[in-house]
Amino acid sequence: MPENYLSAQNVERLPRYFMILSNLRDDGVKTVTSKDLAHYEGIDESLVRKDLSAVAVEGRKRVGYDVEQSLTKLRDILGIDIEHRAVLIGVGHLGTALTNFNGFSRYNVKIIGLFDDDTAKVGQKLGSIEIKPLSQLNSFVINQRADVGIISVPATAGQSIADKLVEAGIKSIWNFAPVPVKVPSDIYIRNENLAASLVTLTFWLTQKDMEKRGDPNAKRFSSKSGRSKSAKDITS
Ligand code: NAD
Repeated sequence: MPENYLSAQNVERLPRYFMILSNLRDDGVKTVTSKDLAHYEGIDESLVRKDLSAVAVEGRKRVGYDVEQSLTKLRDILGIDIEHRAVLIGVGHLGTALTNFNGFSRYNVKIIGLFDDDTAKVGQKLGSIEIKPLSQLNSFVINQRADVGIISVPATAGQSIADKLVEAGIKSIWNFAPVPVKVPSDIYIRNENLAASLVTLTFWLTQKDMEKRGDPNAKRFSSKSGRSKSAKDITS
């Protein structure tokens, strides 16, 4: 495997390093060690160094990483300097929360279009954005050069909305509908599942209980970061 090979897990961690470094910069911190980054992220120090060196973010011995320089490199590799424009389909509870969340701007992603098939919602505004009917999706995506689609409709409508987004020319989809959605191979799809994330927490809590009880199976598992992790680690 080449030295600078990036696995999906490496890529998943990069935005999180970006967020940690951004917060440190906001707090006036100039340098940070891999040990500190590892602590914030809950993973091994060696993994942090490997992840960052794969994208040419290098630290200095006994000094660590220059926060500003590391942010510049990560911004570049994550494409954060390029504005991404998202359309969101399904302006219900989740869609409204996502639209109202202002944290996406740090990553230069803007929700610019809202669509719903509920005629009572069409024409209403959420913030400054008017909710539009799906019949306007294609022209909106083309005219507004939207490149991200967010699906927050019920599971039963997930596939048909994904098809519509692909047809409209959307290249990446963030899918919250709990359903396996099929898209052509050139479309990047990210399926989100909060319930599954919650279950990983309950998994580690169960591990902790098993450890307390002296159950030998407790240490059999390893965390997704790749290191062997006992349940104790997650609380430290
Ligand atoms: P909701 O009922 O409040 O909102 C759904 C919205 O989608 C409504 O406004 C509805 O009019 C609209 N809609 C329905 N069918 C449509 C269609 N064919 N075209 C356009 N709009 C359509 O539901 P919610 O609680 O916001 O949940 C939305 C989805 O997100 C569900 O699939 C839910 O399971 C999922 N969800 C996922 C997570 C996660 O972690 N992935 C978390 C919470 C909710």
